[in-house]
Amino acid sequence: MQIPEELKVGGHIYEVIQNYKFVDHPGNPSGQCDSNLLRIKLAGHDLDGHEKSKSIIFQTFIHEVLHALCICYGIQMKHSDENDELDRLAEGIFALLVDNGYMNK
Ligand SMILES: [Zn+2]
Repeated sequence: MQIPEELKVGGHIYEVIQNYKFVDHPGNPSGQCDSNLLRIKLAGHDLDGHEKSKSIIFQTFIHEVLHALCICYGIQMKHSDENDELDRLAEGIFALLVDNGYMNK
C-alpha cells in the first residue's frame, strides 16, 4: 500500500507531503495535519538524519489521517499523556492493514 500524493477527506483534498523537514518545530514531530492548508506532512528522517522505516512513516500517515477525519467530522479524539486514543487507534489500524495483507499491495 502506497501513501498517496493526495487524499480526499470529507470532500476536502489534502496534499500529502513526504520527506518533509520539520525545522524549528518543538517536539520533533513525525507528522502534521494542517486542516487550514489541507496538508499532511510526513517526516522521512529523525533528528539525527536517520531514515525512518516505511512502517513508521505509514503509521504516522494513518495518525495524521485520523486527525483530518476528527477535524472534518467533529470527533473529539486528541492526544493525552495518559490515554492517547488517537495514537493507539492509528497503531491498531496499521496492524489491521499489515495483518490482512494490505501493506503488500
Ligand atoms: Zn497527532
